[in-house]
Amino acid sequence: MKFKIISKGDERSNKIKAKMKQHLIDFDLLYDKEEPDLVISVGGDGTFLEAFHRYNHRLSNTAFIGIHTGHLGFYADYVPEELEKLVIEIAKTPYQIVEYPLLEVIIRSKTGNKTDTYLALNEATIKTPESSVVFDVEIRGERFETFRGDGLCISTPSGSTAYNKALGGGIIHPSLEAIQLTEMASINNRVFRTIGSPLILPKHHTCLLKPIVDRSFFITIDHITHNYTNVKSIQCRVAKEKIRFARFRPFPFWNRVRDSFIADNN
Ligand code: NAP
Ligand code: MN
Repeated sequence: MKFKIISKGDERSNKIKAKMKQHLIDFDLLYDKEEPDLVISVGGDGTFLEAFHRYNHRLSNTAFIGIHTGHLGFYADYVPEELEKLVIEIAKTPYQIVEYPLLEVIIRSKTGNKTDTYLALNEATIKTPESSVVFDVEIRGERFETFRGDGLCISTPSGSTAYNKALGGGIIHPSLEAIQLTEMASINNRVFRTIGSPLILPKHHTCLLKPIVDRSFFITIDHITHNYTNVKSIQCRVAKEKIRFARFRPFPFWNRVRDSFIADNN
């Protein structure tokens, strides 16, 4: 089995990375950064997002696991104290795999036939540095509303505890193949009207955002911000691809939600 370890880069994470790497090599596993079967991130959820984006071109052949060196994370949910046990479990393969849905975003440009396709593990957000965004929002090919406001966030179920939660979105269990659309400060008055509630769309219900007013956009895909102009449309839907987590012990989603947001041992 081939593995790769990605560290957040701080001293503690680097030390854990070095120790784990040596242990796994001692178990005859191969360190391979090109085609790893298992990618281990050591740091926080942000580090995990980086690991995901580095290997998102080979998701069907890569499993991910996260060790947290700071506070408990949603993706980084193993503690360094579990390291020895974890190494033995990894060496023993095959391990159990759990799959979570992802978001596919396709950005089409007005100029030429340029399209960019992205996969997000948490969410995509669309904002502008120039006053408000103004979009026609289509769902499944039908016009739903015209959105005017600060921006929109389209999140995955596992991303629903991140930015989406701060926007008042619901927390969605990752066994549901869905995406969630949440508003950022929509303008609502006698002229402009939006639904106001987060929308949860199932698989195959594509959401298309068509800018009515030409703006330069900041489009974020997880932790990465892209600058766009001349945008014809932004298409969002549940991706065909999924992220695969290597699971060595159960840690149910709702327990992670409780431990992260309510209390540690209550
Ligand atoms: P960051 O500024 O460090 O991230 C903000 C926080 O979100 C960190 O505490 C991060 O955990 C946590 N986080 C990431 N994914 C999560 C998830 N799925 N569920 C719950 N918490 C999660 O930047 P970053 O580490 O590069 O992460 C990028 C993410 O930050 C974006 O995808 C977005 O979801 C989130 N964000 C949130 C807000 C907001 O809540 N208002 C604003 C902008 C961005 P770690 O400390 O373990 O990294
Ligand atoms: Mn972070």
